[in-house]
Amino acid sequence: MGVRTWITSWPVYRQITGGDPLGRGPAAKSRRTERIDPRVATADRVVRSVCPYCAVGCGQNVYVQDGRVTQIEGDPDSPVSRGRLCPKGSASLQLTTGPAREQRVLYRRPYGTDWERLDLDTAMEMIADRVIEARRAGWQWEVGGKRVRRTLGLASLGGATLDNEENYLIKKLFTALGAIQIENQARI
Ligand code: SF4
Repeated sequence: MGVRTWITSWPVYRQITGGDPLGRGPAAKSRRTERIDPRVATADRVVRSVCPYCAVGCGQNVYVQDGRVTQIEGDPDSPVSRGRLCPKGSASLQLTTGPAREQRVLYRRPYGTDWERLDLDTAMEMIADRVIEARRAGWQWEVGGKRVRRTLGLASLGGATLDNEENYLIKKLFTALGAIQIENQARI
């Protein structure tokens, strides 16, 4: 490659002299990247969604191929985020398909040093037993002569990945159980 060809192929030169002054289009491409298709190009469909990680609620485009999520990117049409995602939201693909995502129930007994696998029905029974026991142990009919009918044995702290509907149901459930400490991380 001659010096002149080398200079004119340099991205900065192309950015300054071409029609891409911000260097976000053709000026940033090499011959190799021009031949590469983006990984979203082969998606069968795009599902619009909302990032589940925090209360900002950035819009996401979820790319699906053969029934599997292949990529998640910011939705340019979202009035909230206009196509942007923070590093956490940009890594949402790992939330759905990452190998580190645990798909089975794991349980560590009191004083246990290892995790045990449980089937879901057993785990649900154990949780129900503990909820009933804690509710009963912390139950108060009256405080200072006033009827309260509540339990201090239960509390709920939701995470930011819970959506509106899940939070609604959690609030209903815990209030029905008599709990008064019901909070969500996204509000703290
Ligand atoms: S992309 Fe980041 S800022 Fe936006 S909702 Fe997700 S976690 Fe929050």
